[in-house]
Amino acid sequence: MNVKIRNLIFVYRLINKMDIISLLNHKLEQELLYELKEELGESITDEELTTIIRDKIDKYPFYIKKAKDTKIIENQCCARCMGPRYSDIRCSNKAQEGDYCKKHMKQISENDHLKFGRYDEPRPIINENGNKIPWRDTNALEDIDTIIQYQHMNLQKLIN
Ligand SMILES: [Zn+2]
Repeated sequence: MNVKIRNLIFVYRLINKMDIISLLNHKLEQELLYELKEELGESITDEELTTIIRDKIDKYPFYIKKAKDTKIIENQCCARCMGPRYSDIRCSNKAQEGDYCKKHMKQISENDHLKFGRYDEPRPIINENGNKIPWRDTNALEDIDTIIQYQHMNLQKLIN
C-alpha cells in the first residue's frame, strides 16, 4: 500500500468519532499547537501544550444546533413563509386586520388561499404545480455534518 494512503488511514483511525465538531476541534487544536509552539519555543513540551489546549477546547464547547429564536411579535401575521434554505417560518409582519399582513391578505384575495398555509397548521407537502416542497429543518452546519458522517461510514467500509 502506498505511504500516502497508509498515512491517511492512520489519521482517520485516530479520529474515531468523526463529526463536524470533532473535526473542527481537531483543526483548532492543530493550529493552536502550531502557533503556540512558534511563540513558546522549547519552554514547554508538545504534550503539556496539547493538554492545556484540549482543556481549553473542552471548556468552551460549541454546538451546531442553534436555538430557534421565537420572538413573539404582537399581532403577528399567521401565515407560514419559506425562510432561507427552505426553512419553515412564520411571517414576521404585523397583521393588519384579522390574522394576516397586507401581503398575505393580498395572496388570499388573489388566489383564495395562502401559498404555504397558516403557521399553526400542518405544512403543505406539494405546491400548486404538484411539485414537492423541499422543506428543510436542518441548518447548513448540520447538513455538512451529515455528509461528513456518511463519508466516514464509506471510509470505514473501505478500510475494514
Ligand atoms: Zn404575512
